[in-house]
Amino acid sequence: MNDSEPKDFIRQIIADDFASGKHDTVVTRFPPEPNGYLHIGHAKSICLNFGVAEENNGKTFLRFDDTNPGKEDPEYVEAIKDDVHWLGFDWEDRLTHASDYFDQLYECAEKLIEMDKAYVDSLNAEEIREYRGTLTEPGRNSPYRDRSVEENMELFRKMRDGEFADGEHVLRAKIDMASPNMNMRDPTIYRIRDIPHQNTGDKWKIYPMYDFAHGLSDAFEGITHSLCTLEFEDHRPLYDWFLDQLEPEHRPRQIEFSRLNLAYALTSKRKLNQLVEEGLVSGWDDPRLATLIGMRRRGYPAPAVRDFISRVGVTKKDNVIEMSVLENSVREHFDHEAERRMAVLKPLKVVLTNYPAGQTETMTAQNHPNREELGTREMPFGREIYIERGDFMEEAPKKFFRLKPGGEVRLRFAYIIRCDEVIKDDSGEVVALHCSYDPETRSGSKAAQRKVKGTIHWVAADSAVLAEVRLYDRLFTVPEPGSIADFHDALNPGSLEVVNAALEPALGNVEVGSAYQFERQGYFATDPVDHKPDKAVFNRVVTLRDSWAKLEKQALAQK
Ligand code: ATP
Ligand code: MG
Repeated sequence: MNDSEPKDFIRQIIADDFASGKHDTVVTRFPPEPNGYLHIGHAKSICLNFGVAEENNGKTFLRFDDTNPGKEDPEYVEAIKDDVHWLGFDWEDRLTHASDYFDQLYECAEKLIEMDKAYVDSLNAEEIREYRGTLTEPGRNSPYRDRSVEENMELFRKMRDGEFADGEHVLRAKIDMASPNMNMRDPTIYRIRDIPHQNTGDKWKIYPMYDFAHGLSDAFEGITHSLCTLEFEDHRPLYDWFLDQLEPEHRPRQIEFSRLNLAYALTSKRKLNQLVEEGLVSGWDDPRLATLIGMRRRGYPAPAVRDFISRVGVTKKDNVIEMSVLENSVREHFDHEAERRMAVLKPLKVVLTNYPAGQTETMTAQNHPNREELGTREMPFGREIYIERGDFMEEAPKKFFRLKPGGEVRLRFAYIIRCDEVIKDDSGEVVALHCSYDPETRSGSKAAQRKVKGTIHWVAADSAVLAEVRLYDRLFTVPEPGSIADFHDALNPGSLEVVNAALEPALGNVEVGSAYQFERQGYFATDPVDHKPDKAVFNRVVTLRDSWAKLEKQALAQK
């Protein structure tokens, strides 16, 4: 145990269980259904389950919920494993499947039948629904509810042996058709499915339902605290009922916490799948998605994601977390970790007319403003450079301290320049600037330093590395795309802008996985799929400042 105060109610429960002697270890599980890729919401569950175990020298199982035969896709299984590892967690030898327990689950079902706590029902699905009643009306007992134990056992074994067609019979728990909790109205625990299973092949013709399989798998694995999201709160009486009847050696306790909802993001596998299927994004790994594989591709560092999850905390209150919370975790991480570089995203050529043609020199640039140990690098400088289009304005307001006709600006780590002439093409578009530089103002030189108000970044034209840079913005224009009638209406048409940027030479030939601060722009990382030694492709992970914060706060406050 660590000595500090538990930081949420679940950690408090665990601490109390240690204190009271109820448990001397923590065993948790992360139980994904492999029917899609994981998203940021799952990261909360992963960090919580693996986190509390790690903090208490416990263990965590990665258990695939494969109670639905034929639904699992090996692509998803591998992706889920990758994502958990990427987040920094390891299940070691505890990779399991609900299907690993099909034999044990079957035995449990027979035990319930023997105890007259389960029966084979022969109503069809429609009738079962009808008999179940509603929230305001109690259900009715099925006419098959009073079958004898022997008859139930015989029918159930025939179900197992494939003597009936799908839907002809189901096995139901015998609880209470009048319970105010619909989950307790004789829930189905086994159904016939004549479909081969990815892990058990043709062995089974019947498959357990999730509620039955889940709690018992927890018990089989010795899970102490079964952490799940709030929508399972109403299932807890059923979870406990199975344990009460079957009295397994280990008794897990289900504890619910609120889902993580992230503003401007979709965290529903179904809707994510729709975005992918309809080609509205480039795939599950589209960097605009809040899938873990998308976030990873975009360049979000795993420690920043973990930090975000820890800031969000664990409660029972449902809420939407502002995207800026995540982005601030990312900024904070990179502010310390990322070296600085210069990149001109929308280049405008500047010719320094008084700089001798053919001459070059090198400027020394700091790699990090407050980490001297990261050293410096050399930046070539010459007669032609690129500056950012947005750093020049022909008709600039008074407070515009960057470059304007007749105005002066400092080139970072280099000289002060003055704009003498604006060169335009036939259509009137600015294509270049003719400027002069002041040789007395070289950065770091001992000569008296003149001061000007603005400093801008630049890249020497001759040695610039040309790169594709992908500028991502929110995929949606509303903070809760998941709760409007049709999320298509809220797609942000400007969510991806691709620019041909000019990078300083130190950004040529960087390894995949490298991330930098492009000064004044944001944090950028190489695209793990498309970045090649001979073709640089960078993704903007996050801007330096949060341009959405105000809008987002207003929109969420109006709710
Ligand atoms: P979906 O409903 O989008 O298909 P799911 O919750 O059914 O997602 P699972 O694969 O069953 O997906 O989830 C695995 C685990 O992750 C479960 O324990 C689930 O409670 C948890 N989880 C899923 N979404 C979130 C979320 N938004 N926040 C926190 N935990 C989540
Ligand atoms: Mg689920």
